[in-house]
Amino acid sequence: MIEVQNLTKVYGQKTAVENVSFKIRNGRIYGLLGPNGAGKSTTMNIMTGCLSPTEGTVLINGYDICDQPIEAKRQIGYLPEQPPLFIDMTPAEYLTFVAEAKGVSDDLIDRQVKEAMQVTDILSVKDRLIRNLSKGYRQRVGIAQAVLGSPDIIILDEPTVGLDPQQLTEIRALVRKLGEKLTVIISSHILSEIAELCDHVIILSEGHVVADDDMAELEARMNPETTLRMTVKADEAGAGAVLKSIEGVNTVTKLSESEADGTVTLQVTTAPDTDLRDEIFFAMAERRYAVLSTETVEQSLEEIFLSLTAKKSKSEEVHD
Ligand code: ADP
Ligand code: MG
Repeated sequence: MIEVQNLTKVYGQKTAVENVSFKIRNGRIYGLLGPNGAGKSTTMNIMTGCLSPTEGTVLINGYDICDQPIEAKRQIGYLPEQPPLFIDMTPAEYLTFVAEAKGVSDDLIDRQVKEAMQVTDILSVKDRLIRNLSKGYRQRVGIAQAVLGSPDIIILDEPTVGLDPQQLTEIRALVRKLGEKLTVIISSHILSEIAELCDHVIILSEGHVVADDDMAELEARMNPETTLRMTVKADEAGAGAVLKSIEGVNTVTKLSESEADGTVTLQVTTAPDTDLRDEIFFAMAERRYAVLSTETVEQSLEEIFLSLTAKKSKSEEVHD
């Protein structure tokens, strides 16, 4: 369990994150999503004790990252955006070095290093110099380094950046596998990646949390009404009158009209979780208006993400 409370980080004149709070519960995969510059790395660096906050606290399984850094850091494994790999070492040497630095007891080091290499599937390259490994393999060594010391929580800062499609698929599969046993927090600027991997998403925009929801909740919250798009062989006034007479219909907006075909396309919003398609169909038929098509419109996750992370409008900036 991690509790991030009112984090603010100011670099000189620049406020990178402001009053950020969220909770991470055990046993799930969390996504920290946001465009470049949103404050993801700053937040993760503070959560892992690599950077001190200007204000706010982080509790990791109850330990304060600033006041009890040794206990707090023992609970987490971290892969920073720029992993601190020693490229003139082999993975086996490097991981042994990290295990020692993390205070893994001597009799456990060999076994833990081997397990970390097994989980991340790097045994086949364990005696090559890290400098000669592909980006995908280097990233696995970075993840192996994070799982050493048996932490409960793994924090990965944009682990798939710069990977080719094959490596990307493999690293995502590895993240999913880690998520079966551990709590995982992964950051990304790619919505589809977070949607694919995570149970829960926290969206950062310009240093603020703009969403903190289960993936399914996020979609539901952003689709508070049911929206239908329909094309009817009727004029706007006639079709509009039929729709407005139906209970549960909130708004009717004309999208387009074709005089040649004698059709009109309308967008209709109705109360949430109602399906009025049958009722609308028969009401139109009674007036001999043929319903040519009806579809339910859902706001895509991509649209949700863009609307949540849109830059502040000009008018807001003026008042700042
Ligand atoms: P993200 O990881 O989401 O891309 P960062 O946390 O790296 O975002 O950065 C958030 C903001 O803080 C950006 O505007 C970035 O330019 C700024 N920033 C990050 N690190 C520093 C620093 N050391 N000095 C000054 N500004 C920084
Ligand atoms: Mg970053």
